[in-house]
Amino acid sequence: MANILKETLNRWLPKPGMTQESDIRLPIATKLILSFLLIVVVTSVMFMVVGIQLIDNHIVSDAHEKVQNDLNSAKEIYLDKLDDIHDVVLLTAGKSFLRNAILSGDIERATDELVDIKNAEQLDLLTITDESGNVLLRTSNPEFSGDNQNHNDLVNVVLSRGLRVAGTIIVPADDLRKESILLAEEARIKFVDSPEARAKEETVETDGMMLGSAAPIFDSQNEIIGVVYAGILLNRDVGVINKIKQTIFHYLTYEGKYIGTTAIFQDDVSISTSIIADDGSWAIGTRVTEEIYNYVVKEGGTWVGRDKIAGNWYIAAYEPIKNTHYEIIGILHVGTLEQKYLDIKNQTIIAFLTITIIVTLISMMLSYFISRRISVPIKSLAAASREVAHGNLDAKVETLSNDELGELAASFNTMAATLKERDRKLKEFARIKIMESERLALIGQLSANVAHELNNPLTGIVTYSHLLLERMPNGDPNTKSIQKIITQANRCKEIIRGLLDFARQRKPDKTSSDVNYVLQECISLVENQAAFHNIEFVKEFDAKLPTAVIDPSQIERVFINMIINAAEAMEGDGRLTITTDATPSKQFVRVRFSDTGYGIAEANMEKIFDPFFTTKEVGHGTGLGLAISYGIIKEHGGTVRVESEANKGTTFSIRLPVAGHGTGQAANGQQA
Ligand code: ADP
Ligand code: MG
Repeated sequence: MANILKETLNRWLPKPGMTQESDIRLPIATKLILSFLLIVVVTSVMFMVVGIQLIDNHIVSDAHEKVQNDLNSAKEIYLDKLDDIHDVVLLTAGKSFLRNAILSGDIERATDELVDIKNAEQLDLLTITDESGNVLLRTSNPEFSGDNQNHNDLVNVVLSRGLRVAGTIIVPADDLRKESILLAEEARIKFVDSPEARAKEETVETDGMMLGSAAPIFDSQNEIIGVVYAGILLNRDVGVINKIKQTIFHYLTYEGKYIGTTAIFQDDVSISTSIIADDGSWAIGTRVTEEIYNYVVKEGGTWVGRDKIAGNWYIAAYEPIKNTHYEIIGILHVGTLEQKYLDIKNQTIIAFLTITIIVTLISMMLSYFISRRISVPIKSLAAASREVAHGNLDAKVETLSNDELGELAASFNTMAATLKERDRKLKEFARIKIMESERLALIGQLSANVAHELNNPLTGIVTYSHLLLERMPNGDPNTKSIQKIITQANRCKEIIRGLLDFARQRKPDKTSSDVNYVLQECISLVENQAAFHNIEFVKEFDAKLPTAVIDPSQIERVFINMIINAAEAMEGDGRLTITTDATPSKQFVRVRFSDTGYGIAEANMEKIFDPFFTTKEVGHGTGLGLAISYGIIKEHGGTVRVESEANKGTTFSIRLPVAGHGTGQAANGQQA
């Protein structure tokens, strides 16, 4: 028990490492085709169900209508036959030979003529009674007479009410035997058992059902002197049935079977029919189902529906037959072979199905083409995107369609082209940068070599010049010249030191420092010098400035450089505003030097950071100040920017990384 539970749980619980949702990846074309198909199939099925239902209903109601019409026609024929008999009876009752024979008391005189009428009209009986209903003459059995027939429904109506009458009646076996043994034999019908028939105790019917008519015979004073009574036994009769078959069904057959059937039932037993049983005889003696019997005989309704008769299915109608007292004594039936309608229905449905299947197939093909039209461009877009992702910027998509997909393809191509152009520019930029840095490195190396080589001879020059000066007597006219040599040589050494500084690119020795403090030191250093007497220093220092990670001595050199450059640009007279603050992200400390000097010409903007670029007179500028400053700031992971307007002034902005935000390596390589 526990094992079964465990197994069931295992089956339904997701296993570890197994996703519950299926990971099936369907291509877009398949999805499109599937959704198209779903629509087509759903619509087709709906059409089919509704269509078949409609066809079915239509054909069934058609068949019902036809069978109803047939039933009405059959009834007409049945009543026509009754009319015929009635006419004969009326005519006979009016005949003077009959009146005279009765009045004379010698009825036998009329026998021959009456027999002629009976034979001519194919009557089963033609009987004359006196005014009390006692039989005077039976044409079918002249030997037997004198019995009273007042119990006969027709005779009774005539004698009791003086009316002529026609209708269907049940004639008891006794009366039939009196008419003729043959007639009684004809009426006798043995029941045929079938599973559908309603249960019944009796096994044989001996009474007969008759279409009959009766009329009074009057004497000259209009007194009834007798009754004419005639009829046709319906049991085993073929006259009415054949007339119906001929008139309504025209003996039409379908696949070897008669399309129409008709039958007359006495109570529930078939006594006259066009239906042929399996053994080839007329299907007489079969009985209706309980359902039909109850509906028609008991309730007096007209039953229309499917009915199995002698092994075949029919659309059948059953209507009650009433006697002169309006009591139901039998059933009139017609039916049409259902097979014909079924075949029509099946053919229609097959045609309908064929059309639906063809339409479905066409829709499938269409959906395939449509989805391909959509999926193929998408696939090529996806392929092109992969190409681009792998670096092939020449990937292109064909723009075949004139819709959103076409637009997408065009946009993709534009994007690829733009990417390619940007890639080209980036590569070019990188190439220039690399060349530049290589050039700088080369210059650095060269400078270092030259400086080394020059440093020793220059030291010699200065040392020996000092020696010469010492040995010279006071007031020697050459003293001044020697002093000039020393000054110029020292200047050379200074340049060389600058060159070495530039070339060495010494790694900064960084500590957390207060940039405001470093700045203040620099200003104090220069302030008192003569060259700065007319320079106004405006300090806008941020009191809450975060500490920066810098090498204070190197950064001091940078700041002094900036201040000297500014003073030189203002030719010793102007205002230098020094501002400090932190960037909004608090990642950098920003120092700005804004002077009111002559500014930098547009053409020189790109060159000012180059080593040896100077606009100053020979002997005044080395062109190394900004180059060295740039190198130092870059080493710190900072940036330098310059903005300038001719004759208005220049602003240098320096950014230095804040302590705690890494060492500023992230900002390395930023544009200076
Ligand atoms: P030097 O000062 O020796 O010329 P720098 O590298 O310090 O070399 O400066 C290079 C050039 O940049 C200067 O010659 C000058 O033309 C320009 N320059 C630098 N600072 C300023 C400034 N504040 N105003 C105008 N021009 C400046
Ligand atoms: Mg300078």
